[in-house]
Amino acid sequence: MSHDKVILVTGGSGLVGKAIEWVVENDKGRFGKMEDEKWIFLTSKDGDLRSAEATRAIFDKYKPTHVIHLAALVGGLFKNMKYKLDFLRDNLLINDNVLHTSHEHKVKKVVSCLSTCIFPDKTTYPIDETMIHNGPPHDSNFGYAYAKRLIDTQNKAYYEQFGDKFTSAIPTNVFGPHDNYDLQDSHVIPGLIHKCYLAKKNGTPFVVAGSGKPLRQFIYSRDLAKLFIWVLREYDEVDPIILSVGEKDEVSIKDVADAIVNAIDFKGGYSFDTTKADGQYKKTASNEKLLKYLPDFQFTPFETAVKESVEWFIQNYDNARTGKH
Ligand code: NAP
Ligand code: GDP
Repeated sequence: MSHDKVILVTGGSGLVGKAIEWVVENDKGRFGKMEDEKWIFLTSKDGDLRSAEATRAIFDKYKPTHVIHLAALVGGLFKNMKYKLDFLRDNLLINDNVLHTSHEHKVKKVVSCLSTCIFPDKTTYPIDETMIHNGPPHDSNFGYAYAKRLIDTQNKAYYEQFGDKFTSAIPTNVFGPHDNYDLQDSHVIPGLIHKCYLAKKNGTPFVVAGSGKPLRQFIYSRDLAKLFIWVLREYDEVDPIILSVGEKDEVSIKDVADAIVNAIDFKGGYSFDTTKADGQYKKTASNEKLLKYLPDFQFTPFETAVKESVEWFIQNYDNARTGKH
């Protein structure tokens, strides 16, 4: 069967890629697979996107008409603080290879993934899409942030020089099934789910890094997946769009720890290790632009999404990314 659209998802084995695959396969409504679409989900085993030759070979093989570009060196606060040059160089190389090969292959549309943690550290709130380049990012992740910001610059340049339809989406903190549940290098929700799970199982202390006071907006990966599919099919701007829950849904790290304790049914107490970094205090983002396009979009309630993530983690403990492989 021939397909009009061949959609290549880079980073298809990661948290966001797996969620898109799940929605494409399982959603019976507007976000599920359409008849004219063929979806291809890449992993790093298909080729290292830091290499131009490997990237070209992948595009020659699949001949995509559309690309969702998720592949990146990704990590939580503590990994970002340790490997700033790797975050800068790996992501610059991956992004340049994917965008330029998409251009050479006349791909009709590319949606790349930015993040709200790339915005200026000193800013007014809420953050919106126009503010990306307004000042230096937080020092803890400047390598990752500058590499990601340049995607937006490249998109504008490809459009202005060649008319290419390359755009980007800006999620807030993401979590869900298939996340990286490593104890050291993960993001806060998967990291704390794993730590709380071990505390319950082994009777060890449950320790939350930092003061618990920083604020974050978390989006469930399966909600984000639906929004990515919508951006690919329907969003027509080159300028980025923030994909986030509302400002009122921002929670503290302490709220996160409480939701996890509840979902795991952990009866012990926990403490904060204030010798560990807090990172950025907040990066409150506006989802006003998104809601203008999709006023009725239903976000999964935070507590429900945490419960589903915990259930997935427990059921898949042997194969999940927990740092033990
Ligand atoms: P993830 O779970 O760590 O997945 C990363 C994906 O990128 C994996 O499929 C990985 O392949 C692939 N990859 C990494 N390096 C590669 C390379 N050199 N060549 C080819 N593939 C490579 O990350 P994620 O959380 O899904 O992140 C997806 C996107 O969302 C990223 O662009 C990230 O910056 C963005 N984002 C994430 C968050 C968050 O909270 N997680 C928040 C905002 C934005 P393998 O599985 O084969 O290693
Ligand atoms: P960020 O939003 O980019 O800073 O990413 P994270 O997902 O790494 O969240 C960092 C926030 O959670 C900081 O305030 C940390 O101090 C706090 N935190 C508490 N425990 C953990 C943990 O086990 N892992 C991580 N990554 N952060 C933690």
